[in-house]
This record gives sequence, structure tokens and C-alpha cells, in this order.
Amino acid sequence: MFDYIIVGSGFAGAVCARELAEAENRVLVLERRPHIGGNAYDCLDENGILIHKYGPHIFHTNEKRVYEYLSRFTEWRDYQHCVLAKAGELEFPVPFNLNSLYRAFPEDKAEELEQKLVSAYGMEKKVPIGELRQNPDKDINELADFVYNNVFLHYTMKQWGQKPEEIDPGTTARVPVFISRDDRYFQDSYQGMPLEGYTPIFEKMLDHQNITVRTSAEADSCLSFEDRILFEGEIFEGTVIYTGALDELFGYCYGALPYRTLDFGFEHHDVTYYQSHGTVNYTVDEPYTRITEYKHLTGQKAENSTTIMKEFSRSYRPDTEDIPYYAIINEENNSLYQKYLGKAKEYDNLVLLGRLAEYKYYNMDKIVSLALELCDSINKGN
Ligand code: FAD
Ligand code: UDP
Repeated sequence: MFDYIIVGSGFAGAVCARELAEAENRVLVLERRPHIGGNAYDCLDENGILIHKYGPHIFHTNEKRVYEYLSRFTEWRDYQHCVLAKAGELEFPVPFNLNSLYRAFPEDKAEELEQKLVSAYGMEKKVPIGELRQNPDKDINELADFVYNNVFLHYTMKQWGQKPEEIDPGTTARVPVFISRDDRYFQDSYQGMPLEGYTPIFEKMLDHQNITVRTSAEADSCLSFEDRILFEGEIFEGTVIYTGALDELFGYCYGALPYRTLDFGFEHHDVTYYQSHGTVNYTVDEPYTRITEYKHLTGQKAENSTTIMKEFSRSYRPDTEDIPYYAIINEENNSLYQKYLGKAKEYDNLVLLGRLAEYKYYNMDKIVSLALELCDSINKGN
């Protein structure tokens, strides 16, 4: 019999499984996909190029513990992610920074704007676009409008179907205007790509005598939520850690939680490199938001062979094959989520963890951190 049943084998599920198994618990992991790893899963495509099947994943964190924990299961390739924006004829780094300024404006204008920005905010400061737009200085305000129109407006419309000011401010604040000459997308102290890819991390993490993994296994094939949680028809006395979507768990009884999903357009090209950067954001035109060329991320060498991926965002349709990728965070959706949370709390042996189960916009490192904290508290209580 199992002490823990974990639904989902992404970072939330896999870290918990490992931590609990090492504390002498017997753990069952149920994963509906035919593979482990959740959205961080990677594999070779038919041309032998290592791809991320569910969108580009770049690891970055400021948490030493998270970095050291994952380093038990992988070595790292140093990779500093830099993103180029294509805004019509213009090309410049995003986050929009001082280098972008000189790419977008004539030199004398750029110098003037640089001085104003530095004296208003200071060097190395990150300013969310919403905040920059509040600046009363006429020139800074014009710059803010330029960045709004050339970086945020169309990209955000494509990604969310809404204007930047209509979505959660925390979302656009992920990509602030950066008063700096640092072209990197992230400034975290630890950044890189797993040397052999992400999937081997999950294989190693889940390779433990106390862990049983069932892939292609829907949670409801063996778990049911009646007055108590039943496993294969019997009352389950252990704990369930659920990392899937909460509305789905309860049959959408209060209505579906809104999400954005993505369609991925993979293309193989007989060239060594297709573009100059790992990711190019199309911030003004094209129906897709960005193109990622995986070889830049993974460091894979291949002559005259590369695979790129275009991301097309749209509304997620519940009860279809669509994958819910991004929670749409706003007051109305959060309160719907709270109703489901109330229902989940009726089960004292049900724990929710992860980007889906918590209806949050978490990066991988945050999930690993939360999983470690959860297991710390469980293991201390034991
Ligand atoms: P998931 O990885 O989604 O895992 C949940 C698992 O549960 C899935 O495998 C799912 O199949 C399974 N599951 C769900 N319901 C059931 C069920 N009923 N029965 C059985 N199994 C079930 N983060 C970064 O740090 N850097 C990045 O560059 C980055 N890029 C991203 C790009 C995209 C396009 C997306 C969508 C996300 C990105 N992220 C990135 C975020 C990252 O994917 C998440 O933080 C991480 O995957 C969350 O892990 P998780 O375990 O919570 O969820
Ligand atoms: N964003 C934008 N233009 C860009 C990059 C980002 O408008 O060139 C906005 C957009 O709303 C996006 C958000 O900032 O959803 C967060 O961007 P991030 O790159 O962090 O998104 P993710 O990689 O998580 O999809």
C-alpha cells in the first residue's frame, strides 16, 4: 500500500515524490501523459534535435537551495538567455534596456532619454511598463508610449487576448524596462540549462525504490473523491498530493476556470542556425508571439539541421484535448478558484501544489522551492 499518491509528474510532483520516498514513504505517482516531466519534458524530435515539447524552458533562480537540490540530478550548461524583439523593421533586446534605446532612437535622442531615465530611477533599476507610463516627464512619457506600443501592446493582445492594462500587473512586470546595459532576459544568480536535458532530471528523481510511477494513468482511473478519498475503491488513509487543475478534479462543478492554451508550430530547417537568438519575440506583427530555436538553448551541435517553434496563444476549452498552460489571474477567476479551494478543504488528506492546482503563474524554481518546503513540513511532522 502507498503512503502518498501524487497526481502529476512535473516539478511539483517529482520533487515531492523524491523527498517523501527518501523519508521512507511509499509513493505512487499518477501521470496522464505517456511520459514524466510535466511541461518541462524534452525529447529528440524526428530529426534528432532536442526540443521542449511544451514550450521553451530556461532554468533560473536566486534560491541556492533550489539550485543545489536540482544539481543532485543534473550538471548544468552555462546559458544566459537573451531575447531579441522584432518590432516591424526595428530589432532590439527585451526587456527593453539602454541598448534597446540606442537601437530604437537616434543617438542624441537616446542619450537624452538615457540621462533622464538614470536620474529618475537609477542604473540597474527595473521599472514595470505600467509605472513608467505614470512618469510625468514628457520625454519619459513618450518613451513609455513607444515601449508600450512596440513591446507590450500587440504581444500581450496575442498572448492574452487583452491589453496590458487589463491583465494582472504582475505579468507584464516579469519583463520590466531595465535601466541597464545587461541584455539578459533574467538576472538571477543561478541560470542555465540541464546538461543532458530536463527529462533525465525527472528520470533520476523518480528512480527510487519507494516510488512507483504509472504513466498514461488518469487520476480518476483509480482515485475518487466521495465523502472520503477512495483509491481503487477503498478508503485511502494516506495523503494525496494533487498537482493538476482543481476545477477538473471536481468535475467543473462551479464552472470552468479560464486558462490560455498554446498551439506549437514546430518547423525543421536545413540550416545550422535559423535565427541569432534562442528566442525572438514578435512584438508588433505575425500571429505568433515568439520563435524559439532550441539549439541555442541546449547547445546541441548539428550541421545544417535545426528545429524552431512558433507559439500561438488562444483560449483554452475545458473538457477537450487542450492543455491549460496559463492561469488568467484576475479577481473574478481568483474567487472562482477560492470556491474550488473550499471544496478541496473538505478532504483533510488532500494537498494542492503546483502551477495548475494553485492557479498561479509560477516558474520552475518556485515550484521546486514550494515542493521542498511542503516536504520539510510533512517530514518534520512525521
Ligand atoms: P506541470 O509541469 O504542468 O505538471 C503537472 C502534471 O500533472 C502534468 O504532467 C499533467 O499531465 C499531470 N496531470 C494533471 N492532471 C492530471 C490528472 N488528472 N491525472 C494524471 N496526471 C495529471 N518556468 C521557468 O522557470 N522557466 C521557463 O523558461 C519557463 N517557460 C515556460 C514556457 C511555457 C510555454 C509554459 C507553459 C511554462 C513555462 N514555465 C517556465 C513554467 C513551468 O512550466 C512550470 O513552473 C512548471 O512546469 C510547473 O510544474 P508543475 O509540476 O506545477 O506543473
Ligand atoms: N510581454 C510582452 N512583450 C514581450 C515580452 C513579454 O508584452 O516582448 C508581456 C506579455 O504580456 C507576457 C508577459 O509580458 O505574457 C510575461 O512575459 P514572459 O516572457 O515572462 O512570459 P512567459 O515566458 O511566461 O510566457
